[in-house]
Amino acid sequence: MDCKPLRVDVAVAGAGVAGLWLANLLVERGLSVAVCDPGPVGGRQTIASQGIIHSGVKYALGDASWRSSALEAMPDRWRACLAGRGEIDLRGVPVHAEHVHLFSATTGGKARTALASRLLAARSRRLAAEQVPPFGRGLLMALDDFVIDVPALIRRLANPLATRVVRRRVQPGDEDIDASVFLFAAGAGNEALAARAGFGNGTMQRRPLRQVVVRLRTAVPLFAHCLSATFATEPDMTITSHGSALYIGGEVAGDGARPFGEQVERVRRLLAETCPGVDLRGAEFHAFAIDRAEPAHSRARRGAFAERRGNCILCWPVKLALVPRLGDLVVGLLGDLQPRSEAWRGDSAAQLRFAEPPWQCPC
Ligand SMILES: Cc1cc2nc3c(=O)[nH]c(=O)nc-3n(C[C@H](O)[C@H](O)[C@H](O)COP(=O)(O)OP(=O)(O)OC[C@H]3O[C@@H](n4cnc5c(N)ncnc54)[C@H](O)[C@@H]3O)c2cc1C
Repeated sequence: MDCKPLRVDVAVAGAGVAGLWLANLLVERGLSVAVCDPGPVGGRQTIASQGIIHSGVKYALGDASWRSSALEAMPDRWRACLAGRGEIDLRGVPVHAEHVHLFSATTGGKARTALASRLLAARSRRLAAEQVPPFGRGLLMALDDFVIDVPALIRRLANPLATRVVRRRVQPGDEDIDASVFLFAAGAGNEALAARAGFGNGTMQRRPLRQVVVRLRTAVPLFAHCLSATFATEPDMTITSHGSALYIGGEVAGDGARPFGEQVERVRRLLAETCPGVDLRGAEFHAFAIDRAEPAHSRARRGAFAERRGNCILCWPVKLALVPRLGDLVVGLLGDLQPRSEAWRGDSAAQLRFAEPPWQCPC
């Protein structure tokens, strides 16, 4: 970059799924966009996410009446994009699983019936547990949610932006960037940007998680929310498979302060209880810490969030699945933004560096 400020219509802070998705929508409108991120393309939370495009069915576990029309609409929006009929062309991004299973090892018949009726009322169907070998005896449902390949999604979204990604942090009060609009899609980095841009303090909350990667000797395709013997309102574990690695989040990952060794033991026990068909002999367990960054509870709950102050828009998707909804909100806040004259058209020498998913890292 030379010393002249970068003149763009929109400067996007963050190259996670939010920044990449929004930048695609803006480029499509003919706007000049710079996607700024000091780190690799793919963000922090995004590359660590499990890639489940879910409609909120699992929340029926805790509250049978819980509904979110925004979340319910997401699987169909994503399917349209994956088929090349949506707002962003995602053809070629692999779908790892067409359905996510929900398995409950709960022994009490009453609890099991209650679970089934809550979920059946939503988008799911019941299966015989013996149809899916890794699970033990219990209740098995196929949810209408599906799982996408997140690293492939990131590459697909980055493709049209290859010349527009700039390896730098957006600073509060940045004078090196001359933008009509600043879009803060920086995950945890939004906290500092928001405070400086007048959104006030306390805009964001962090939820520290402790995810677990289990490297098996043999690959087992497993995409499931698992509930152990205790009847729970949240899945104890959410498992996705990536080659021969199982990647585990869910309630068990919710205590970010739990010592690594203890975490690994809990996961080992839960796997043995719910998925006895998974051969854990010789398996290697690794735990790692990551924060979820979301708007503070007072601002939004389980929904995508976007707010505008002056020429700054602050946003969090809250879930990968909700990024299309975030796109709607941000496009609405941008209104009729027109391209400026002599705006930056990209750097043809730019080279993209991509984030590595946790199941591929040595941990
Ligand atoms: C373990 C885990 C599993 C998840 N699983 C799922 C799932 O299965 N399904 C689902 O729907 N959701 C899931 N989520 C939630 C989802 O991943 C996140 O909501 C989403 O990825 C957030 O994307 P983002 O782009 O806002 O943030 P991030 O991916 O965190 O990206 C933010 C980027 O901003 C950059 N940045 C920070 N500060 C600055 C700055 N000042 N200037 C420029 N750049 C900056 C960072 O370097 C980073 O690259 C999961 C989250 C986690 C943590």
